[in-house]
Amino acid sequence: MHWEPTIAVMAKATGDFVKFLGTAGARFVMITQRRSSAGVLYSLGGFQLLVDPGPGCLVRCHASRPKVDPSRLDAIFLTHGHLDHAGDVNVMIEAMTEGGHERRGTLFAPGEALDGDPIVLRYVRDYLGRIEVLGEGKSWELAPGVSLSTPVRHLHTGEAYGLRIETPRLLISHVADTLYFPELVQHYAPCDLLVVHMVLYQVDAERKCRILHLDMADATRLIGEVRPRVAIVTHFGMNVLQAKPWELAARMSEETGVKVVDARDGMMLDLEALERQGTTPDA
Ligand SMILES: [Zn+2]
Repeated sequence: MHWEPTIAVMAKATGDFVKFLGTAGARFVMITQRRSSAGVLYSLGGFQLLVDPGPGCLVRCHASRPKVDPSRLDAIFLTHGHLDHAGDVNVMIEAMTEGGHERRGTLFAPGEALDGDPIVLRYVRDYLGRIEVLGEGKSWELAPGVSLSTPVRHLHTGEAYGLRIETPRLLISHVADTLYFPELVQHYAPCDLLVVHMVLYQVDAERKCRILHLDMADATRLIGEVRPRVAIVTHFGMNVLQAKPWELAARMSEETGVKVVDARDGMMLDLEALERQGTTPDA
């Protein structure tokens, strides 16, 4: 279970990076905390964007080395309102806004997470600087030269989106929970870094259509067609964990010819090192 880093992994939180605070996907890994469900932190051009703060996010931020200071966050992004993605959203809003004393920060969330069965409490909404409702084809500027967009609504049991982040030197696509559909490729390609929620190991089509997640074959196909410079698989369900994600990632690398890395709790990737290695030819 020892991991030999073959891509730049950082010890210090400086410059642009992505940190996998948690790598749990779906109910049972979340409930058992076999992997943390704390979500993913992007730091780009000084802008800190926390994606999917599931249960344990606040605890992980404080326990994490180097520590993540929630009051330094600039935005929280919910791909959708399920508990494994949003269980800690309220406490993270409190932490980002220093208990509501500092009206600041942005929440990006699908309308359903706000209006449907609202996972974001109404009283904490007042603490925020802004709330941006996600929608197909929408985009926002996070910092000078750094933009965020939600290219397409995913096929999932709730209203769900993935995200695309563009910096002057890097294209990042983060494909959250969804059933595979061919248009995913055009919406998320080209990119340098592709993050994929690979919840399932091997599931038949009928069951997949019911639970609306990607399995290993879908993730492999997506990575093979998008052809990023690096792909990171995360958000693992129990069967993926039992099948050893590092072995699956090695098989996926072999099949696609793309470097595929399985995320570990606490793993941090140096995005500046990725920038220095050059950009995608067709970017
Ligand atoms: Zn999920």
